Amino acid sequence: MPYDQAIETFDPVMGLEVHVELGTATKMFCACPTVFGGEPNTHVCPVCLALPGAMPAVNRLAVEYAIKIGLALNCEIATWCRFARKNYFYPDMPKNFQTSQYDEPIAFNGYLDVDVEGEIVRIEIERAHMEEDTGKSLHVGGATGRINGADYSLLDYNRAGVPLVEIVTKPIIGTKASAPVVARAYVAALRDLLLSLGVSDVRMDQGSLRCDANLSLTPAGNPVFGTRTETKNVNSLRSVERAVRYEITRQAAILAAGGSIRQETRHFEEASGTTRAGRSKETAEDYRYFPEPDLVPIAPDPAWVEEIRLALPELPWILRDRMQADWGLTDLEMRDLVAADAVTLVAETVAAGASPAEARSWWSAYLGQKANTSGVTLQELPITPKQVAQVSALVASGELNAKLARQVIDGVLAGEGDPAEVVKARGLAVVSDDSALQSAVNDALAAQPDVAERIRAGKVQAVGAVVGAVMKATKGQADAGRVRELVFATLGVEPS
Ligand SMILES: [Zn+2]
Repeated sequence: MPYDQAIETFDPVMGLEVHVELGTATKMFCACPTVFGGEPNTHVCPVCLALPGAMPAVNRLAVEYAIKIGLALNCEIATWCRFARKNYFYPDMPKNFQTSQYDEPIAFNGYLDVDVEGEIVRIEIERAHMEEDTGKSLHVGGATGRINGADYSLLDYNRAGVPLVEIVTKPIIGTKASAPVVARAYVAALRDLLLSLGVSDVRMDQGSLRCDANLSLTPAGNPVFGTRTETKNVNSLRSVERAVRYEITRQAAILAAGGSIRQETRHFEEASGTTRAGRSKETAEDYRYFPEPDLVPIAPDPAWVEEIRLALPELPWILRDRMQADWGLTDLEMRDLVAADAVTLVAETVAAGASPAEARSWWSAYLGQKANTSGVTLQELPITPKQVAQVSALVASGELNAKLARQVIDGVLAGEGDPAEVVKARGLAVVSDDSALQSAVNDALAAQPDVAERIRAGKVQAVGAVVGAVMKATKGQADAGRVRELVFATLGVEPS
């Protein structure tokens, strides 16, 4: 069913669960390192493998990070909470249970205001709770890399026990057609927030930020929620948007044909942009939660929570407002920078000495096009903010004009070195040597005597034809302003 038609008939109801791996040096309940990668099963110990007799202890920094996240999301912080055992059998969980928070999360009842194309949408946060990550399975043999058809599976428990915070929204209703865009904007805002808090590297491609998107449809105007599906582990911003959009059309087609939605987990297929069914969804009873007997409850001292609140960094949206004011940008210009994920790049370019207008213009125009045509993000372009600032400085000093500056940027992108090296190697500096320019001006005037005559007769705008000829002769390396002056001086005309 086409998306527009689906949205005319049904209202989407979303719930977003974002898992974030905390950037602590050690795991949630033991001293094993949390670094990504490493030889399989080398970052493990009796505690994270849950060998008999091993006793876990809570990582204080992980609790501090969880409180930080809760405070930044305007949540209430629990004065007392505990961990529970979430029992289920799955090979990537060496304990056969996951240590998580069940009915007593560390943070609850918050919100995040998200800028969706210039409009603020308030996303209500149900809870942010602590838990530990699972290990990873690798299915070997078979074409799909999935367990079906595989010859055997390998397990790596390096990630088992890495601290996680899971941030769960309340049902997001009333977004209608913009539901997929809202989902993407929310995850993007959350990612920026978590990054600014310094609690995670938020690398979606490495799984340190993962989103599960719950979606159901209700007939337009009907207050009763429909059956929902949960699309698991969506691992890019673009995929979040596509997965929500696909689920809306898929569910609408089933409901419009008189069918019903099965409550299940689904997986997003990057290549086709579709979701496929996973297991049917367990309910809380299936997990047989019970309080973790080996861990003491957590009762954060209110004074400590207050200390964490006061030490929160400047949050991204406040920083953005301040930068917009500092840089003198319009709302639209700032929104474009945010949408292009270019705010930090521009800030760094300004810090390296470029004017805000120059920095914005490079990243949003020329480099934006370059990134687009090569299918990479601005961050992935092989040029640094410092190098962009160096090009800006060469333009400001008159050594480069706009056209040459673009060629220098091309050279940097092609791996030819820093701007100064590219200028030298390609011989790109503006020709400011008057004797060289004077002879080019003389040649151009001699070639166009009629134009020279018109300028002498007071038609000063005719100078453009001479300047053009000189620019052509110098392959764009002349300073156009200086050429103009020389033409008037040569003809003895006072430009008005
Ligand atoms: Zn361990």
